[in-house]
Amino acid sequence: MKTRIRLLSPLLASALAACNPSSDTASVPASTHAAPQEGAPPASRLGLWWDFFFNKPASTVPRGAIPVQPLRRADLEAAPDNSVWRLGHSTVLLKLQGRFWLTDPVFSPRSSPVQWAGPKRFHAPPITIDELPPIEAVVISHDHYDHLDHASVMALRSKTAHFIAPTGVGDLLVAWGIAADRVHQLAWWQGTTVSGVEWTAVPTQHFSGRGLTDTNRRLWCAWAIRAGERRLFFGADSGYFDGFRTIGERLGPFDLTMLEAGAYDPRWSAIHMLPEQTVQAHQDLRGRWLMPIHNGTFDLAFHPWQQPFERVLKAAAAQGVQVTTPRMGERVGLDAIQPGEAWWRGVDAGAHPAAPHRFSRV
Ligand SMILES: [Zn+2]
Ligand SMILES: [Zn+2]
Repeated sequence: MKTRIRLLSPLLASALAACNPSSDTASVPASTHAAPQEGAPPASRLGLWWDFFFNKPASTVPRGAIPVQPLRRADLEAAPDNSVWRLGHSTVLLKLQGRFWLTDPVFSPRSSPVQWAGPKRFHAPPITIDELPPIEAVVISHDHYDHLDHASVMALRSKTAHFIAPTGVGDLLVAWGIAADRVHQLAWWQGTTVSGVEWTAVPTQHFSGRGLTDTNRRLWCAWAIRAGERRLFFGADSGYFDGFRTIGERLGPFDLTMLEAGAYDPRWSAIHMLPEQTVQAHQDLRGRWLMPIHNGTFDLAFHPWQQPFERVLKAAAAQGVQVTTPRMGERVGLDAIQPGEAWWRGVDAGAHPAAPHRFSRV
């Protein structure tokens, strides 16, 4: 019995860690949530599980080291306002209105309920939580493990003034010990302004849950951000849906959209966009520059790890869409956004020297 539990536990941890095929999307209820309209039938879900655990292609993980630009607190403090740094997966640091804001912070070595199993990250974060400057707000999109990491939230607690989250996720943060008066909980289309930056929760077509019994108990969302003249969109996780057009009409245009392109598969496209849909969503949102996120850090699907970048660039070129692909830790200045390098090319050939992993201790 013990052996069986030992064998199954890593599988369960992996299943809970990913926000894709492990979930029973067919059971998503309630028309008030833009929930997936389709779900894989039971037989094909079983096939997905089988493929996920036993038929993963080697190309889903980089063979060489991902280039990471290390960041120090002094660099961040000296950087101009209206700066954005991608730190990994969907973890983005923003400097707006002279303060720092952090989305979906995951600094732990694995995206998983436990740290001895589940998807292991490809690269160390460019900066540790200790080294980060004070954070005005940590902003969470939903409760999946690759977006809401308990250890990171706990480590950030002492240097973060506010936590902004969708309804129900805020309750979880309070249950974890964050003072309730520091937690802003918002339903879709509700906004809050903190230190001159307005955060509006907007719909996504996704789902939620951290275990086997809490599916869709907490809300999931994307964030429309307004800081002075600047407007940004943090898309979190979503299938492609007509809500992007509505958001664009109501809250766009956006100087920069940060949209998921990664962890996709035609079999679960209801909850994660294919890269071509990411480009379409960006256009629906009336975005000027697109920064693909939700890739390059964790292995959560079957596609080659670098494929999201190539497919987004190809679709974007066909549509005349501007794409920025910063390295992890590289600054994007909103006043003069640059395309950036195709840093993922050559990683598998070992073109970048392997840097020692230095994971944040959280
Ligand atoms: Zn998710
Ligand atoms: Zn995700």
